[in-house]
Amino acid sequence: MVTEQRALFIIFGGTGDLAKRKLYPALFNLYRKGFLKENFAVIGTARRPWTDEHFQEVVRDAIHAEGALLKDTSRFASHFYYQSHNVNDTEHYTTLRNLAEKLDQKYEIGGNRMFYLAMSPRFFGTIAKHLKSQKIVTAAGYNRVIIEKPFGRDFASAEELNEAIGRYFPEKDVFRIDHYLGKEMVQNILAVRFGNNLFRALWNNRYIDNIQITLSESLGVEERAGYYETAGALRDMVQNHILQIVSLLTMNMPASYSETDIRREKIYALKSLRKYTPEEVEKNFVRAQYKAANGQRGYREEEKIADDSSTETFVAGKLFVDNENFSGVPIYIRTGKRLSQKTSRIDIAFKAMPTNIFAPQRLGQNVLTINIEPEGKIFMQINVKKIGQGFTLKNSHLDFFPTSNGESTFPEAYEKLFADALAGDATNFTHWEEVAHSWKFVDTIRDTWDKQNDVLEEYPCGSMGPQASDKLLERDGCKWFYQGKNN
Ligand code: NAD
Repeated sequence: MVTEQRALFIIFGGTGDLAKRKLYPALFNLYRKGFLKENFAVIGTARRPWTDEHFQEVVRDAIHAEGALLKDTSRFASHFYYQSHNVNDTEHYTTLRNLAEKLDQKYEIGGNRMFYLAMSPRFFGTIAKHLKSQKIVTAAGYNRVIIEKPFGRDFASAEELNEAIGRYFPEKDVFRIDHYLGKEMVQNILAVRFGNNLFRALWNNRYIDNIQITLSESLGVEERAGYYETAGALRDMVQNHILQIVSLLTMNMPASYSETDIRREKIYALKSLRKYTPEEVEKNFVRAQYKAANGQRGYREEEKIADDSSTETFVAGKLFVDNENFSGVPIYIRTGKRLSQKTSRIDIAFKAMPTNIFAPQRLGQNVLTINIEPEGKIFMQINVKKIGQGFTLKNSHLDFFPTSNGESTFPEAYEKLFADALAGDATNFTHWEEVAHSWKFVDTIRDTWDKQNDVLEEYPCGSMGPQASDKLLERDGCKWFYQGKNN
C-alpha cells in the first residue's frame, strides 16, 4: 500500500558516494511511486561550497533517468537544497536550522525530520549532540536518525557510539541500516519459514543437517581500501550481514509479524550464538587474503594497502546457534572479495531419509536454496522418478522465481528501507541488542586472530577461497553446495 509521507530529509555527507549511488535514486523511486509527492524536501550537507543548482544537477545525474521520467526528475530535484556545513562547527547548525524551518513551512511538512548520517561514524556523536542542542529536532513531528554501517569496530566502540547517540535519540528513533535486511530475498526467509507449514515443521535440528551461507564478491577493495584495511572481511561482512541472515534463519517463530516480536526473537537467536574458546576459533574459522592470479593483482599490491598487510579478505567459519531448534546444526558461512562470482545465497541441507527403499540407487540430498543475488530465486532439490521404463530416480529442481509471475522487479534495498523508516517501521533495521550480541561473538574471533602470529592463508583471485575453507566442511563429511562460476 502506498501512503504519501511528509518529511524533511537532512543528509549529512550529501556529496558522498553512498548518497549519490544509493540514496538519491532510492528517494526518486519513492517519489515516482507516490510515497513522496509535494510535501517533502531534502537538504544535502557536506563541506564543499555547492549551490542548490549544482546540487540539483548532481541529484539528476545520480538518478540516471531516461525518456518520460526526465520530466519527473526535474520536479523531484527542485525539492533538493544544499547547505555547506562542517559538522564540527556549532554555528553551521544554526544556518541549518533556519533552512530546515523555512523548508518545513514552504512544503508544509509538519515537523517530520529524517536525519541520515551518510558519513564516517566518528562524527555521529557530534552530529546527534548538535541536532538536539541547536534545536534542529522538532517537537511538532518525528525525529528519526538513520545510521550507516560500520556501527563500531568491536563491542566496546559500538557501545560508546550507541551511548553517544542514545543520549539524544531514544532507541525507537534510531534506524541502523543493514541493507541486506532491505533485500527482497532476505525478507523472503520469514515468508518461507512462517508462511508454510511444510517448512515450519521441518525447520529444526531433527530435519536440517546443515546450513550454508555464501556472500561472495568478485570485486576487490576498489575505492574503499582505506576503510577495508582497518576492517577486514570479519568486521565488514560477518558481524552485520551474515549474522543478520543467521538470526532470520534460526530465530523462533515470533508471536506476530511485528517489529517488537520479530526483533525479540532475532535478539534471542543472536544471544544463543555459541561463543568459542581461542582453540575452537582456530579449529572453526579460516581467514585468508587474495593473491595475484587470472590477470588480477593481489590484495597487498592494491593501492593504499600495506605491503605486509594482514587484513583478511576472506572468512569461512562454522558456527552454532544453541537454541532449542538449532542446537547441533552446523552453520557454515563464508564471504570474501575477488572470488569467482558475485553471489549471495543460502543453502539449507536436509537430513537423509532414515531408510532407502530404492537401494542400491542413491538418494540425492534435499536442499532448499534461497538465492539472494544476482538472481532472486528459490529452488529445492528433490528426488523424482526418471520418465520412462523401469524405475530410476533422479535429483530434480523445483524452481520459484518471484519475478517471473508478472510481479514487478525487486525494489532496491535502500528504497524499501527508506519507505519503512518513513512509516516508522524498524523491523528491517538492527536493534542495538542485535548489534551488541553480534559484536561479542565476532570479538572472540578477532581477539584470537590478533594474538596469533601465523601467516595468513592465501587464495588466488577468481577462486572460491582457500583450501582450508573446503576442508572445514570435508572434516564433517560435507561440501559447499555452491562451487562458484559453473554451479
Ligand atoms: P564518502 O567519503 O564518499 O563521503 C563522505 C561524506 O562526508 C562527503 O559528503 C564529505 O564531504 C562529508 N564529510 C566528511 N567530513 C565532513 C565534515 N567534517 N563536515 C561535513 N561533511 C563532511 O563516503 P561514503 O562512501 O558516501 O560513505 C559514507 C558512510 O556510509 C561511511 O560511514 C561508510 O562506511 C558508509 N557506507 C558506505 C557505503 C558505500 O557504498 N559507499 C556502503 C555502506 C556503508
